[in-house]
Amino acid sequence: MSVQDIACPDLGDFKDVLVIEVLVRAGDEIALDAPIVTLETDKATMDVPATVAGRLVEVLVTKGSKVSQGDVLARVEAAAPAVSAVAPKSTTAPKAPAPVVSAGPEPAADREVQLLVLGAGPGGYTAAFRAADLGLKVVLVDRWPTLGGVCLNVGCIPSKALLHAAKVIDDAQAMSAHGVVFAAPQVDFAQLRAWKNQVVGKLTGGLTGLAKQRKVEVVRGVGRFLSPHVIEITHQGQQQRLRFEQCIIAAGSEAIKLPFVPSDPRVLDSTSALELAENPGRLLVIGGGIIGLEMATVYEALGAEISVVELTPQLIPGCDLDLVRPLEKRLRARYQQIMLGTKVTAVVAQPDGLQVSFAAGDNTSTQSFDHLLVAVGRVPNGRMLGAEAAGVAVDERGYLTVDKQQRTNVAHIYAIGDVVGQPMLAHKASHEGKVAAEVAAGQKSYFDARVIPAVAYTDPEIAWAGVTETGAKAQGVAFEKAAFPWAASGRSLSLGRDEGLTKLLFDPATQRVIGGGVVGPNAGELIAEVALAIEMGADAHDIGLTVHPHPTLSETVAMAAEAFAGTLTDLYLPKRRAGH
Ligand SMILES: Cc1cc2nc3c(=O)[nH]c(=O)nc-3n(C[C@H](O)[C@H](O)[C@H](O)COP(=O)(O)OP(=O)(O)OC[C@H]3O[C@@H](n4cnc5c(N)ncnc54)[C@H](O)[C@@H]3O)c2cc1C
Repeated sequence: MSVQDIACPDLGDFKDVLVIEVLVRAGDEIALDAPIVTLETDKATMDVPATVAGRLVEVLVTKGSKVSQGDVLARVEAAAPAVSAVAPKSTTAPKAPAPVVSAGPEPAADREVQLLVLGAGPGGYTAAFRAADLGLKVVLVDRWPTLGGVCLNVGCIPSKALLHAAKVIDDAQAMSAHGVVFAAPQVDFAQLRAWKNQVVGKLTGGLTGLAKQRKVEVVRGVGRFLSPHVIEITHQGQQQRLRFEQCIIAAGSEAIKLPFVPSDPRVLDSTSALELAENPGRLLVIGGGIIGLEMATVYEALGAEISVVELTPQLIPGCDLDLVRPLEKRLRARYQQIMLGTKVTAVVAQPDGLQVSFAAGDNTSTQSFDHLLVAVGRVPNGRMLGAEAAGVAVDERGYLTVDKQQRTNVAHIYAIGDVVGQPMLAHKASHEGKVAAEVAAGQKSYFDARVIPAVAYTDPEIAWAGVTETGAKAQGVAFEKAAFPWAASGRSLSLGRDEGLTKLLFDPATQRVIGGGVVGPNAGELIAEVALAIEMGADAHDIGLTVHPHPTLSETVAMAAEAFAGTLTDLYLPKRRAGH
């Protein structure tokens, strides 16, 4: 190991150039080409990249210093051998090659911005609001006319409004078996759509109000980076260039399109499906994941004939099978067909329907449908931002790579939400948004949540948090398990349902809860307790000895814990009878 200098490069005709930002500190591990300081002349700003990789032993400049060619900026204990390409600053960050931005003149900008947030979804608006609360001057940019991103406009909220309508219809039908008979529902699609839009409008309008209260400036347009400090915003053919000190990218994701599926008004994605134009008749949902099954739940209740095709051998791939089984059983009784381990190989648009070809092993078949809903996943929007001009690394799938402080490989640019990786969930985006905002405001925040719960708002709902049985088995993680079947829950039976299950996974060494899963009505609400238990390091006694109200579904969490502790009285479990 040798100590080497990083010197100020040739700055053309410029001398005594101002250091406006020092991006590293002594002790940091830096990669070759990682930006270490930002310089500003009266014409442009530029990041000076590290010419050697290793551990920074000394930084010789501060914000406000003036430097000229050859001045030593920092000293590095060189790692041998130095590797090419820029790696993220933190050792926790994923590795992705980053483009090297030449330190050429910066494009001129129309005005200066302290913090620019690109994308106003749950990640972006949360980041913008938190940063404003911490005293930063924030500009929030989005291409859409309303704030809230996918989640509020075409995701979580409209889907849950429609799922509520589906639940009311299903509950009313279910009561006919118990002596309360309602007339068959008459669905006015236009009115239902208007109500759903009203719910969305209330929330997105509320965000506009919150932005105003915080003096967050909202700028409409499509943003594209021109350099590490300048972004161009285009709206209705007009461009403006903003020079930002720091930026948080929250550009989200979009639905994957299947290349062989023709462009046809009868082919829906999640966004057009939420438009609720009409009863889609015979609807094939391609993709048995959460979004596809939620929309199938809506349309089945509204009278459509549902078929589901899923490439993998199970619905909701990755979810534990014991949680999926009750859902699959219910859906098989209601849907036309559920084809698992089956691939869609072709779609041909005919005047009288969409001809879909399937392959399952050696078997092939063709069927006709009135509509298709393609719900095969989402891709991050990382490739649509001109991120390379800012020097921000984008991996081959379009994700931006970040460290635990949500910093990209360019230290003054952060990224959050769907664009940085799975799970693509609104609550992950908003938590990351807070971290990025706090770090941008100078706080030492980290994204260190132990678990991010996931919920399928199907009927029954499925929810899980932390270690799953599938994941633990695949990764060789030791666990012990306890479960409470809802057939023994008074609350569940009084809802007319008995298929649910609550299970908890424990670390055999510490007896702490490390994961949990719930299937049954309201599972999505119940999983919050499991997530809190994991974050708090709770064990089975902590949960079981917490008095849960009776009769509630929340008792099933306590009873799963009691089953593990051996103190459960609501079921007879011979193995753990001797517990205390
Ligand atoms: C049908 C459906 C249902 C869902 N249900 C749930 C759920 O129940 N629970 C849950 O947690 N998650 C759900 N999700 C996922 C959730 O919506 C996303 O995880 C979440 O919205 C991601 O937030 P984000 O801030 O990262 O990005 P997004 O919400 O995707 O927002 C990104 C924003 O960036 C803007 N943007 C992108 N590029 C540019 C650009 N170049 N210039 C300007 N603006 C740009 C977009 O217009 C958008 O407003 C659902 C998704 C769908 C599609």
